[in-house]
Amino acid sequence: MRIGAHVDSADPLAEAAARGAEAVQFFLTDPQKYNSPKPREDAERIRASEVDVYVHAPYIINVASPNNRIRIPSRKLLMAHARAAAELGAKGLIVHGGHVGAGADLEAGFVNWRKAFEYAENDGGLPLPVLIENTAGGDNACARRFDALSRLWEAVGSFGAGFCLDTCHAFAGGEDLVGIVDRVKAITGRIDLIHANDSKGGFDSGQDRHDNLGSGKIDTELVVAAIRASGAPAIVETPGGVEGQTADIALLRERAGN
Ligand SMILES: [Zn+2]
Repeated sequence: MRIGAHVDSADPLAEAAARGAEAVQFFLTDPQKYNSPKPREDAERIRASEVDVYVHAPYIINVASPNNRIRIPSRKLLMAHARAAAELGAKGLIVHGGHVGAGADLEAGFVNWRKAFEYAENDGGLPLPVLIENTAGGDNACARRFDALSRLWEAVGSFGAGFCLDTCHAFAGGEDLVGIVDRVKAITGRIDLIHANDSKGGFDSGQDRHDNLGSGKIDTELVVAAIRASGAPAIVETPGGVEGQTADIALLRERAGN
């Protein structure tokens, strides 16, 4: 069982060591900006490391958007991050499911998702798996409720899209965590990564506010059960720096490992 944390991007391997983590996730650029990643001096060290690496794409990316001033740069930025993540030997690039905005037709979001994968294919192909993550909120979100996720997968499943299940986002997004792995797999056929987070917001609150395991509104056993049932690696995206995340990792290793 590979368990790790979302860490600062300056020296992810040192952050992994500080937490005793077997996996790390980090951003390559400011997550709120349309910046293309630059080559990293530690790329070879990261590639050679035993630590599994995941890269989280900027939050600002929304390939589902009906607004072409958001959608087109988002597609290009996703591809740039995919290439840079592959340079680091990353196992996947995580990107949020996106949304079409209030009043817009959600179907356009699914069509735009398919176009994003087609754009990637025409631009040399994705050099690593893109893992679409479920979201807690968003106006007309493509991957909050699983009825939408099901329609999204009809659009992108054939391109080999992967899936990242965030337990905070599922709970706050209004999807019951009991039996969630089976429900997701019936749609996507796969779970590549679990984001193992507790939630400060209540069930179906729509709030994307992560908490340390056992400190928020989620029964930790349901997070543990999701990791066990999926057999997927887990990344905690929880507060508290080294101390808080080390405790969360230890808890998961103790209860989900065997
Ligand atoms: Zn997440």
